[in-house]
Amino acid sequence: MTTWHGRNITVAGLGVSGISAARALAGLGASVTVVDGGDSETHRLRATVLTAEGISVRLADAVTLPEGTDLVVTSPGWKPESPLFAAAAEAGVDVVGDVEIAWQLRGRDGREPAPWLAITGTNGKTTTTQMLASILTAAGKRTAAVGNIGTPIIDVVLADESYDVLAVELSSYQLHWAPSVHAHSAAVLNLAPDHLDWHGSMEAYAADKGRIYEGNSVACVYNAADPATEDLVREADVEEGCRAIGFTLGPPGPSQLGVVDGILVDRAFVTNRQKNAQELAEVADINPPAPHNIANALAAAALARAYGVDPAAVRDGLRAFRPDAHRIEHVADVAGVAYIDDSKATNTHAAQASLAAYESIVWIAGGLAKGAAFDELVTGAAGRLRAVVLIGAERALIAEALARHAPEVPVVDLDRTDTGAMSAAVREAAGLAKPGDTVLMAPACASMDMFANYNKRGEAFADAVRELAADGSQ
Ligand code: ADP
Repeated sequence: MTTWHGRNITVAGLGVSGISAARALAGLGASVTVVDGGDSETHRLRATVLTAEGISVRLADAVTLPEGTDLVVTSPGWKPESPLFAAAAEAGVDVVGDVEIAWQLRGRDGREPAPWLAITGTNGKTTTTQMLASILTAAGKRTAAVGNIGTPIIDVVLADESYDVLAVELSSYQLHWAPSVHAHSAAVLNLAPDHLDWHGSMEAYAADKGRIYEGNSVACVYNAADPATEDLVREADVEEGCRAIGFTLGPPGPSQLGVVDGILVDRAFVTNRQKNAQELAEVADINPPAPHNIANALAAAALARAYGVDPAAVRDGLRAFRPDAHRIEHVADVAGVAYIDDSKATNTHAAQASLAAYESIVWIAGGLAKGAAFDELVTGAAGRLRAVVLIGAERALIAEALARHAPEVPVVDLDRTDTGAMSAAVREAAGLAKPGDTVLMAPACASMDMFANYNKRGEAFADAVRELAADGSQ
């Protein structure tokens, strides 16, 4: 077991995960210094609190490695090429993330460590992790959804409360810094270009995602519709006997979970999978039953089944699951038109999934494109678009893609980036929609040009829809 007492540990980043790591390691007797490039009021307040606990904090310098450091624990967002890490490499000092520390801290108090069921992917991680936790809870297991969500994972691993099993969401950044995590079973939901500025290339991004399968003992779950995820399983070094399990929206082959006549079916965790299949739940049990969300439910079900959960608990857990806000959230019906908030669709891959879920759409889109191209998205959605309303700083990129691939679709370019633009966008959309249509705010872009975050963007949309409904009822 790793010894922490007396070690000189530098924690990079004074955020939620950095503070959690610093406290945990100081509590185990390490001498901890937290470094951060910022020096704001918030930074100083946090520094005061930690200093009172015996933790050193150095602000306004994210570059120099503190003298005597023998390990760097980084917050996930720090880029691999950060100068601090170059200094660590120079000094022969390892850099790991808080997830790696959590992994190494398991079982410290002699308790049997809870196995990890791990989930990554470009989109759907949080939803799938929460679905999995809901299924495990329905099966009577003590569990928590952790990692990239909820309570910092180190705090959960060290908590007095014991867990049977953890549902762990891991981002590509976290995987990059977690070299020795060995999950019981893991899933990669999908793989599309994202965060390439951080990882450097698509290959490096995929390789970090693929880390999640390393050392799995029971199942590597992949998306049969996304061959890149299956390639990662093939490349992984797993424990003897670990199985590759696919999920598909069509009828499942042997060793797959899939869908037959509106029923989720398991042909992997059954005896005689050549002939037998086990019914798990109905598509109608999934909330909302959009295609990408059925895929998420199948992935969650596969991990739960790999852990030994029975079919009835899969169904009960899916029925009990409620998605977080701003993820294909039905806000209201006004004059026969459904208004859907998918503000969390901050990239084209996510927006593609929600555009595929509706037949006739007035699409509200735009914001910060993060270097994305929109041609494929627009080509795929063209046949479903009644009209488009564009807002935000980089809306011209979407307008150009629409002009190229869907010239017949009416486009209203609002030429606004103020916060009030959302209300104007909803009114424009209402004017263009016909009864039976869906007004879908799935911007395919980040929100920070107009809003503090995607939550605020979603709230602005919902407020605007409620105003619209109130006007209509007067
Ligand atoms: P993440 O944690 O990976 O960001 P979320 O569950 O928060 O994922 O969902 C993020 C966005 O991605 C939402 O807008 C949702 O509509 C979309 N999405 C969810 N699951 C999938 C999927 N399997 N494939 C594509 N898009 C998805």
